Amino acid sequence: MNKIQMVDLHSQYAKIKTDIDNGIQEILDSAIFIKGPKVSQFQKNLEQYLGVKHVIPVGNGTDALLVALMSLGLKPGDEVITPTFTFIATAEVVALLGLTPVVVDVDPNTFCMSVDAVRKAITAKTKAIVPVHLFGQNADMEAIIGLAKEHNLYVVEDACQSIGSAYTFSDGRCVKSGCMGNVGCTSFFPSKNLGCYGDGGAIFTNDDNLAATMRAVANHGMEIRYHHDRVGVNSRLDSIQAAVLDVKLKKLDEYNKARQQAAAYYNQAFASCEKITIPVQASNTTHVFHQYTLKLHGVDRAALQKYLSDKGIPSMIYYPIPLHMQKAYTDPRYKAGDFPVAEMLCQSVLSLPMHTELDEEQLAFITKHVLAFINQ
Ligand SMILES: *Cc1c(COP(=O)(O)O)cnc(C)c1O
Repeated sequence: MNKIQMVDLHSQYAKIKTDIDNGIQEILDSAIFIKGPKVSQFQKNLEQYLGVKHVIPVGNGTDALLVALMSLGLKPGDEVITPTFTFIATAEVVALLGLTPVVVDVDPNTFCMSVDAVRKAITAKTKAIVPVHLFGQNADMEAIIGLAKEHNLYVVEDACQSIGSAYTFSDGRCVKSGCMGNVGCTSFFPSKNLGCYGDGGAIFTNDDNLAATMRAVANHGMEIRYHHDRVGVNSRLDSIQAAVLDVKLKKLDEYNKARQQAAAYYNQAFASCEKITIPVQASNTTHVFHQYTLKLHGVDRAALQKYLSDKGIPSMIYYPIPLHMQKAYTDPRYKAGDFPVAEMLCQSVLSLPMHTELDEEQLAFITKHVLAFINQ
């Protein structure tokens, strides 16, 4: 049996080695490492795949969120609503820009932001909502966009974990993740569903004006060369990463399907175990399983992780601490107990190996040992 890893990029590379190596060689031969034709080619192919007007490649997913928020004309003190159960980047950029992060609790089933909590958190200072499509399924976007319209707020989707998934609105429109709000942000970090071999990210929008602003902000605030109309940053995708991504984009649907098949195997194996809640999929969204995350009930999670680790099975806790309990984000507005769902999830979730190369032998081995520990 192949070694079990949380993410197996090595086996994935082995299958696409020729195309990847040729793509990288082409860049080496051209010596155009920044803003070359490969970056525009990938950008166009991604626009087409997503069905979105503008893709703006940037340096990483955190920069995507940063550039998006820098481009909305927000002022210090403006409030931005984000879930407390997520990766830190979401709130980090809000804090870096002097905006006020307002955190809300999540739905216990989907792990995405609770729409009721968002509604209650809206004040006169609220300017934007940043839903995170956590673990690969979309937040309740119809309700979130409805609230945003009602209160004249921006919606900036954090689609770093959900690229390739889709959401169906009640009028039948099916829209790809990251393309529903005013702006969508994604990451091409190697372990993401569409990952490159270094850092990378992108911003999506259908708004022409916003696209122009975001392109300028990502390029030192410059639209005409050496004319800087606003303060910007330097954030770009390099040509070698674009070459890797252009190969992997063609495989994205196949890769997401492989993740869904692995998830289906896990789901079936754990379905009748009372101490495990398998991932709950909302009816209006597909799930591309960036992570396969269980909720455990009455199980010593640390002991289970140790037991699995001794068998050569890695597992991870995404995420152990909610935003409002992180040292850098302590705030007199919040205390332990304020967001009970997120706090409960931090104590009870466990993510199992999830990637495109899991085979049945590995899945059988993982599920057998999880159940052996839990049923002992
Ligand atoms: C990975 C990730 C990011 C940040 O992406 P980087 O490319 O690592 O900067 C932001 N938000 C979420 C939810 C993520 O999973």
